[in-house]
Amino acid sequence: PDVDQIDGVCPAIAIWQKNSVRNPRSTVGTTTEIHDYLRLLFARVGRTVCRECGTEVIRESAEVAAKQLLALPAGTRLLLGFDFPVVDQTGDVAGGESDAATTLTDDRDDDLLLPDADDSLTPAEAAMRSLRKQGFGRLVVDGRAVAFDEIEPSALANATMLQVVVDRLKVGPDLLGRMTDSVETAYAEGGGTAFAIEVGDGSVKDAPVVHRFSERFECRPCGLVYEVPQPRLFSFNSPFGACPTCHGFGNVIELDLNLVVPDQGKSIQQNAIDPWTKPHYRSNLVDLKRAARAADVRLTTPWRDLTDTERVFIVEGNGSDYKGIQGFFRGLERKKYKIHVRVFLSRYRGYMSCPECGGTRLRREARDVFVGDRTVDKVCALTVGEATDFFDRLELTEAQQTVAQRIVSEITRRLSFLRNVGLYYLTLDRLSSTLSGGEAQRINLATALGSALVGTLYVLDEPSIGLHSRDNERLVAILRQLRDQGNTVLVVEHDADTIRMADVVVDLGLGAGERGGRIIHAGSFESLMREPQSLTAKYMRGDLQIPIPATRRKHAPLTLNIVGASQHNLREIDVQIPLNTLTCVTGVSGSGKSTLVHDVIYAALKRAKGEWDKPVGAHDGFEGAELVSNVTLVDQAPIGRTPRSNPVTYLKAFDPIRELFANTKDARANALTASHFSFNVPGGRCDGCDGEGVVKVEMQFLADVYVPCDQCDGRRFKPVVLDVAYRGVSIDGVLHMTVREALSFFSGSPKVVRRLQVLDEIGLGYLRLGQPATTLSGGEAQRIKIASHLSTRKTDRTLYILDEPTTGLHFDDIAKLLAAFRKLLQAGNSLLVIEHNLDVI
Ligand SMILES: [Zn+2]
Ligand SMILES: [Zn+2]
Ligand SMILES: [Zn+2]
Repeated sequence: PDVDQIDGVCPAIAIWQKNSVRNPRSTVGTTTEIHDYLRLLFARVGRTVCRECGTEVIRESAEVAAKQLLALPAGTRLLLGFDFPVVDQTGDVAGGESDAATTLTDDRDDDLLLPDADDSLTPAEAAMRSLRKQGFGRLVVDGRAVAFDEIEPSALANATMLQVVVDRLKVGPDLLGRMTDSVETAYAEGGGTAFAIEVGDGSVKDAPVVHRFSERFECRPCGLVYEVPQPRLFSFNSPFGACPTCHGFGNVIELDLNLVVPDQGKSIQQNAIDPWTKPHYRSNLVDLKRAARAADVRLTTPWRDLTDTERVFIVEGNGSDYKGIQGFFRGLERKKYKIHVRVFLSRYRGYMSCPECGGTRLRREARDVFVGDRTVDKVCALTVGEATDFFDRLELTEAQQTVAQRIVSEITRRLSFLRNVGLYYLTLDRLSSTLSGGEAQRINLATALGSALVGTLYVLDEPSIGLHSRDNERLVAILRQLRDQGNTVLVVEHDADTIRMADVVVDLGLGAGERGGRIIHAGSFESLMREPQSLTAKYMRGDLQIPIPATRRKHAPLTLNIVGASQHNLREIDVQIPLNTLTCVTGVSGSGKSTLVHDVIYAALKRAKGEWDKPVGAHDGFEGAELVSNVTLVDQAPIGRTPRSNPVTYLKAFDPIRELFANTKDARANALTASHFSFNVPGGRCDGCDGEGVVKVEMQFLADVYVPCDQCDGRRFKPVVLDVAYRGVSIDGVLHMTVREALSFFSGSPKVVRRLQVLDEIGLGYLRLGQPATTLSGGEAQRIKIASHLSTRKTDRTLYILDEPTTGLHFDDIAKLLAAFRKLLQAGNSLLVIEHNLDVI
C-alpha cells in the first residue's frame, strides 16, 4: 500500500466476513477442533454395544478373564485350557474317514519307534504329539482331565477338536498371577480364545459348566466382530473410519425425481417428464404412452394425483418393452464417456443421503460405540446448545473421569466460546461451506479465543453483521475478552454499540468517496461525541436521524400467498407478501429467514417465470406469481471485475456521451466514430493498457498491484482521441467528473441526464463516472444496481429481494438506501428485504 511508514506491527490475524470454505469435509466440529476431542473421548471411554443383542462388547484380556474366574465360589475346581483343531495330513479337518483312522491306531507302538512315519498316525495322535513337544500333557475327556497316555484312541476317533488342559486349579486367594499366566498361555496357543471348565466333585453325570473367554473384540453369542475404539475409527476424514459407500461424504449422487418431474401439476401428456421433452429422447415417451395404455396408467392426470402404483410403473417400467425412467437413466449411465451425456445426467441427479450410513459419514462399527447414551454421530447432530447440556449431564465413572476429564473440559470450553458468539443453534455436523459469512467469521473468532494467543493484532471486518442485538452484546464481550488476554483488536464497524464500547474510535470522513479520506477523529468515544464535524457523532447524538416515514404505504389488495412452507426448519407456515410495499423479514440468526425468502419465495417465483430448473424449497401452494412481472435479487456483488467496468458503463450512460463526442467537429475531421471513444474495443483506446488506465503487476504471493499506464498516463485513450473536446472537456475529463458535475455539464442532453439522475437521487452523486468497479464498496455496487433498474424500467411490477442490504453501510448510507427503496416503490415495484437493522425494520 502507498504509505510512508508503519511502526509497531505485531503478529496479525485477520478474521474476514467471508466464508471461503468449500471443502465438503469441513464441519463446525472439525474447524473448532471439537471433533478431534470427541474422537479422543470416544476412543478412550466409549462403550461398544452389540447391535444385535444390546449387551456391551468387552475385550477379555487375560487379567479380566482371571478376575472373573476368581470371583467364583472359593474351592471351585477348574480346568483351564484351549481348543486345538485336529487337522489331517491333507490339511482338512479330520472326521468322516473314521474307518481308516481306527485301523491305523493299532500301529501306535511303531510310531514311537519311528517318529518320522507321520502318515501312520491318526490326525488326533499327530496333534497330541506336537502338543506334547510344547509341554502339554492332558486333554479334557468327558469333563475330566486325562493324560495323553491314558486316552483310549477310539475316544478321539471322530474328534475334530481337542480340549487341551493348560492348568488345573482350585479357586482361592493369591491365585491372580498364576491364573492370568495360564489364561495368557491358553490365548497364545488357542488363537485368542480360552475355556475354563468347572469340574464336578465326583458326580460325573452333571453337565459341566463351561466358561469361555476371548481376547478378540467380539460379541460371542451373536458372532459379531467389532472394532476396538481408537481415534481414527471416529473420523470420516480417515479411510479407516469413513463409510465405505460414500467415502465419508455422507451423501451419494442419485437420480432426483423432483428434477425429473419439476412440475408435479403436469400430466404425462403435458410433458411432466422433463428429460423426455428433449427431441433426442422423445421415443421413450412414446414407449411409455403405449405401455401405459395397456397397463391402465392415466396419462392426463397431473403427476401429483397419480397413485403410487402408477408412479412406480412409470419410474420402474413394466419389465418388458418399457424400461421406465430408471432404466432410461441406467442406459445413459453406460454412455457416460460422452461429455454431453454426462452433462445431461447431472441435470437430473442430486445428492441423496447415503443409504449405508444414513448421512452420518461413519462406518457401522464407529456407530456402535457410546458415550453416555449417544454415539459420536448423534453427538455431532446436536446443536451447540444441546451439546452443552449433554456434556453437563454426562456421568462418568471415577476411572473414566481420570482419563476423560481434560478432553471433556476442552470440548465444553470450545462449546462455550461458540455460545458466546451467538452460534448456539448450529449443529456440530453443519457443513462449513453452508455457513454465512458472519457465521464463519464468528466461528473463527471462537477458535481464536480457544487458542488463547497473546500480543496479537486481531483485525475484524464488521463482525456485527447478521447478529440480533442480544447476540451482539455477547460478541462485544468476546472482543473485550480478547483485549483483556493481552491482544489488540481492530474492528471496522458501523454498529452503534460496538462504537460505544471501543477504547479508541477512529472516524473517517467527512463523506463518502471523493469527500472522504480524512481522519475526522481519533480518540475516546466521549471526545468523538463532542466532535462537531463528524457524521457518526451527529447520528449518535441524535442531531441527525434516519427518518421514519410519517405515513405508511397502505397494504395493496394484491398479495403473494405462500402456503405450508416447510423447507429446512420452517414449520408449515403460511405467509402473505403484500405487493407494492416494503416488506421486511427479520428474526434471530438461524430462524429460517433465508430459507423462506431464497429457497421458497425466490425459487418458486423464478420457476413460475420459467427461469429455474433447480430444486425449490418445500411448500404446498404459491399464489399470485402472475401479479409480478419479474423477480430480481439485488446483492452486494461487484458490478464488474475489471477496472474497465464503472458506474457510467453499467448504467449505459456512456453510449449517449460517446455519441456527443463523435458528433463534434474535431472528431469528424479525424474520422473518429463513437466506438473510438470506447475503452472496451480496440481503436481509440490506449494500446498500452487496453483502456484500463492502469497495468496490473502480479506480486507472486501478495495481492496484485495496479500502477498507472505509462503510455497514456492513466488517461486510457490515444492522444488523437484525447484531443477531441466536447464543450471544452476531453473524454477522460468527463470520466473524471462526479455524477453531480456531469448532471449540470450534460444538462442539455436528456438521454445522459435521465440515466445519471437516479444515481444522485439515491446518494451516489459523489461517484466519478469512470471510477473502476474494483474500487467500489459492496453497498455502492448494490445501489448502482438499484439505480440501473430504476433508470431502465420506469413502471414495472418487479419484486426486488435484498438480503441484509445495510451490510457495510454507515447511518448516512442507510438513509440513502431507504431513499432508493422509496423510488422503487413509487415506480410500482415491490420490495422484500431480509434485515436486522432497526432503522430499516
Ligand atoms: Zn450380541
Ligand atoms: Zn455413507
Ligand atoms: Zn494506457
